[in-house]
Amino acid sequence: MAIRLYNTLTRSKDEFVPIDRTNVRMYVCGPTVYDDAHIGNARPVIVFDLLFRLLRHVYGEGAVTYARNITDLDDKINKRAHERGITIRELTEGTAARFHAAIDALGNLRPTVEPRATEHIAEMKALCEKLVAAGHAYVAEDHVLFSVPSMPNYGGLSKRPLDDMIAGARVDVAPYKRSEMDFVLWKPSREAHEPGWESPCGIAQPGRPGWHIECSAMSWKHLGETFDIHGGGIDLVFPHHENEVAQSTCAFGHGVMANVWMHNGFLQVEGEKMSKSLGNFVTIQELLETDKFGGRSWAGDVLRLTMLKTHYRQPIDWTVRSLEESSIRLQRWLSVVSETFGAEAKTEDFWSTLPLWLKSLPGEKDVLTEALSDDLNTPITMSLIDGTVGDWRSARTSASKTVRAKFVAYYLYFLGLAGPRSFDVSNQASVEDLIAARLAARKAKNFAESDRIRDELADMGIQLKDGKDPATGEPVTTWEVMR
Ligand code: AMP
Ligand code: ZN
Repeated sequence: MAIRLYNTLTRSKDEFVPIDRTNVRMYVCGPTVYDDAHIGNARPVIVFDLLFRLLRHVYGEGAVTYARNITDLDDKINKRAHERGITIRELTEGTAARFHAAIDALGNLRPTVEPRATEHIAEMKALCEKLVAAGHAYVAEDHVLFSVPSMPNYGGLSKRPLDDMIAGARVDVAPYKRSEMDFVLWKPSREAHEPGWESPCGIAQPGRPGWHIECSAMSWKHLGETFDIHGGGIDLVFPHHENEVAQSTCAFGHGVMANVWMHNGFLQVEGEKMSKSLGNFVTIQELLETDKFGGRSWAGDVLRLTMLKTHYRQPIDWTVRSLEESSIRLQRWLSVVSETFGAEAKTEDFWSTLPLWLKSLPGEKDVLTEALSDDLNTPITMSLIDGTVGDWRSARTSASKTVRAKFVAYYLYFLGLAGPRSFDVSNQASVEDLIAARLAARKAKNFAESDRIRDELADMGIQLKDGKDPATGEPVTTWEVMR
């Protein structure tokens, strides 16, 4: 089955043809680890995790190399470490560990490689040397600068008008630039808190790389001079990705860095991009662990579903209402699995053997792969699950009920939305804890609180039944999953 992907380079949905079917290679720009990631930063992680899953499904698990870097070298990092009085390494290691914990909770697979900028200085210096030798870069006042006029087709990815690009470059005008659009590949480190390495190109002053060169170096090291897919958020198209293309194509002379460029749309709050600088953000950890957003915490799978139910190129409005809707929908889907398979659904085996089970079905069309192969059409996959749940409900024989429920489980598993964790006893305990808290509130005649907990459970898709213990006469509450 052909995969079709929207390519920012061609502005069209094209059939995906890998350079080498036995090693499909994808690079995605990762986080700058100076602070905890907000939920907007999780969008590219989840989108490209899904693409990684699809590619592994189509080409084979061992046939896909997915590199997502960690930017542990950046001026924001130096500044933050300096302010907090800790070393750069302490800051970046701590932030990277928290990033991993957060995105693991969102059901993401780890990429094949996670290169760190600080471990690729040699490649960055080698790129500077190559570009100077080829006449595409020059040295000025201890900097190495990329010469934009040396590349006639600069701007081919973002296709911005020249005036726009000049205006964008004006953000950092500097007297040592020959042309105002030239950008930094290497810069001197003069302050004590700035990390520095021995410089390339005969510069005596120690220095450090610019941001764009980091990704050209890491993708080169792990995926080669040209590779299949390069991804990131839409804000990275210009200047970051444009400059990566300039560096890599001019250094290697292939005319192509990556064949397909993919960009996710923004996650927004009231129509504006969620970002650290606007202050309208909520971190992944805050959503998972605190009641900062909507007065309650949210399960990782609920956050993931909220992300995936919108097509990746569309903007997402991040609202409490949308999270609540996802929570109820997911509980409904999961209740089909738990009702049909009971304790079996708590085992890893049940989930991991689902793809094999599907293969064993004669003449069954793989509608999930079909939908995802159409430029990751996740909204369709969600209605597919809803439809299968409907079929399960109306199925008359237990055999056909089982098949429908297995399909539901398979879809959820493929999308990374469920697994044994969904039926983890600690999740059950949280329901029991809430029920106990509600009973306590009722005993204390705090009915506002007890109603609030009832609503919270209802949002989780759980319905309560209040009664009395026949033996003791004490109030007891039982619960079931709503349908
Ligand atoms: P940063 O750490 O700012 O470089 O961002 C890491 C990744 O998150 C990049 O791919 C960005 O494009 C992406 N990103 C940042 N903010 C948002 C947002 N509000 N919505 C979607 N993606 C975002
Ligand atoms: Zn990058």
